[in-house]
Amino acid sequence: MTLEIEARDGMARSGVFRTAHGTVATPAFMPVGTRGSVKMLDGDDLERVGAQMVLSNTYHLMLRPGSDVVRDLGGLHDFMNWRGPILTDSGGYQVFSLDAGVSEIGVTFRSTYDGSRVELTPERAIAVQEDLGSDIAVTLDVLVGLPAARSVVEAAMQRTLRWAARSMKARRRGDQQLFGIIQGGTDPSLRSESAARTAELGFDGYAVGGLSVGESDAERDRAIEVVVGELPEDRVRYTMGLGDTEGMLHAVARGIDLFDCVLPTRLARHGKVLTPDGDYSIRRAAHTRSSIPLDPSCACRTCTSYSRGYLRHLYQTGEPTGLRLLTMHNVTYTLNLMSWMRNAIMEGHFERFMASTIERRVSGVSRESLA
Ligand SMILES: [Zn+2]
Repeated sequence: MTLEIEARDGMARSGVFRTAHGTVATPAFMPVGTRGSVKMLDGDDLERVGAQMVLSNTYHLMLRPGSDVVRDLGGLHDFMNWRGPILTDSGGYQVFSLDAGVSEIGVTFRSTYDGSRVELTPERAIAVQEDLGSDIAVTLDVLVGLPAARSVVEAAMQRTLRWAARSMKARRRGDQQLFGIIQGGTDPSLRSESAARTAELGFDGYAVGGLSVGESDAERDRAIEVVVGELPEDRVRYTMGLGDTEGMLHAVARGIDLFDCVLPTRLARHGKVLTPDGDYSIRRAAHTRSSIPLDPSCACRTCTSYSRGYLRHLYQTGEPTGLRLLTMHNVTYTLNLMSWMRNAIMEGHFERFMASTIERRVSGVSRESLA
């Protein structure tokens, strides 16, 4: 058993997820280290902001520097100086956004780096992730852009299931967990079938793929509800690519344990600050002479040391340090949100916490826009 549930509140749950590189308190958020680095942060920074676990992209690392290079340099943990757990995705998401050619065997695509032709099969995706040495590998899946005809979504879901079975057979390492991916678009019956049949294969955890691709919030919430109903209690449930505050609250309320998203780091690079009182732009002239921190309630290094006025100045003049400090804050906020959710679940008032968090953020934003 890799997940030990410690508390439940409705469908929401908090627990301890065990991996080869330590335990993770859930619900948990993974900052995204696309090319073996979370943009603007290094391994020490990640530890300092309280990250428990990070995600890295198989697609990018297999092309540059090559998974064999990472393996020969001691694996991803040594390579990026991160001692905690690492989850690698399968590369499916990146590959399918590249106009890839897909057959029953696998996917062929052109490298974004040098245009060379690359083939990725379910077996190769496992071999690459075993080279990288992540704690958790994810199976290669077939993505379809939405909206799409039901027959197209169903064919992709069925092929994903066949690839999941092939991935399971391709495993060589005993110290790496493998998560299966559930597809099925926004169709509840396809989602339900995908979840039930993926669960039958007996993975260490389950990723919900194909969400946050333009579906409505209601469609996403419904897809999560249907999927969770088919999954075993003692396995991690992970929604891929979901990372906004409201979306994560709704997902945790439906029994999701794990998240990853580029949003907190990407928004920081666009000057957007995440806070419990709503999100705002540091670029606004109103912050020019502001001596208060980004978020007076935040204990991160950025908030304990620097004013909004200074951070706005760094942003406006294009100083990389500004982006780094904003990134540290946004990642801290997102990790704090997870710990507030865990506490609310343990104290049995998650619904109230969710409602008050959403309400506070809405009223904070309207205050900010009047300022
Ligand atoms: Zn902060």
